[in-house]
Amino acid sequence: MKDYYAILGVRRDATQEEIKRAYRRLALEYHPDKHPGNKEMEERFKEINEAYAVLSDPEKRAAYDRGQEVGEFSWADLFSLFEEVFGARPARTPRGEDLEAEVEVELKDLLTGKEAEVEYGRLVFCPDCQGAGGSRVVCPSCGGRGVVETYRQGLFGAFVQRSTCPHCRGQGYVLKEVCRTCGGRGRVSRKEVLKVRVPPGMDERALLRVPGMGNLGPGGPGDLYVRLRVRPHPELEREGPHLLYRLKLGLAQAALGTRVEVPGLEGPIPLEIPPGTGPGEVFELEGAGLPLPKGGRGSLRVVTEIQVPKKLSPKARDLLRAYAEEVGESVLPEGLWDRLRRGFKR
Ligand SMILES: [Zn+2]
Ligand SMILES: [Zn+2]
Repeated sequence: MKDYYAILGVRRDATQEEIKRAYRRLALEYHPDKHPGNKEMEERFKEINEAYAVLSDPEKRAAYDRGQEVGEFSWADLFSLFEEVFGARPARTPRGEDLEAEVEVELKDLLTGKEAEVEYGRLVFCPDCQGAGGSRVVCPSCGGRGVVETYRQGLFGAFVQRSTCPHCRGQGYVLKEVCRTCGGRGRVSRKEVLKVRVPPGMDERALLRVPGMGNLGPGGPGDLYVRLRVRPHPELEREGPHLLYRLKLGLAQAALGTRVEVPGLEGPIPLEIPPGTGPGEVFELEGAGLPLPKGGRGSLRVVTEIQVPKKLSPKARDLLRAYAEEVGESVLPEGLWDRLRRGFKR
């Protein structure tokens, strides 16, 4: 484990203010824009930011002090931290854009997780101009500096106003000949097929981050975020880590009890329904749901629905009448409904 206190050069009991001060000084000193192409400095800058990301967050700092892992940081995390502290990002070549793609799996795949393929398109540097957009020449307006200076007369005398060169839009060069392959944009779209690992029980609202697989940009690639889609299951619904099964019971089954098989993800699960089960009752099959992030599994919840027959055979009707008489339920007399129905529309 890295010694974040040593990296920032502060004591272990340093206050938040001292940590911030040390960070500001070091981050400016080691910023990659000051040392272009210097890998060592870049690594150092990363360490400094990492140290600050941990020590400036009281919760993370406490975990770190206890010797716990505090997670990984991406370049993007670290730069946004830098921006936060300094209020603005110093002029820097932009990263490529982040992208989003989708991966589809079966509900069953969430039991063990699955390696699945993601297909998407991303912008990469044009193979013919290597991202330059064509042959470049130094901008004649600004001489390659990207800024132009105009002398203006103000209230207290002349002053110099600096602005981004409008001719090259601050880039310092213009294209002499536009690349035909990319039309001068410097990037072309390429189809990517990527394998991603969908973890067991993955939440559909979560995104899988694949660092560096977004569009390419002069300051490095963006990231890819993969959205999960679970194909609908014919019988089971997903409720977070739990599964829901709607069990349809006939009148007699509900009243007398029955033995059913619930279509679990790993095969049928026998379930006994006790006599006198009503609609909307829930039988919880613990451990038959989806994996939980911290181990264990959710439940398969069986919810009962009672189906009242729309049509009865003459014999079934007679039996029900006998039943009603036995328990003292008043029902419509034989044939009355048919006579009434002529007068009403149901
Ligand atoms: Zn090109
Ligand atoms: Zn220019």
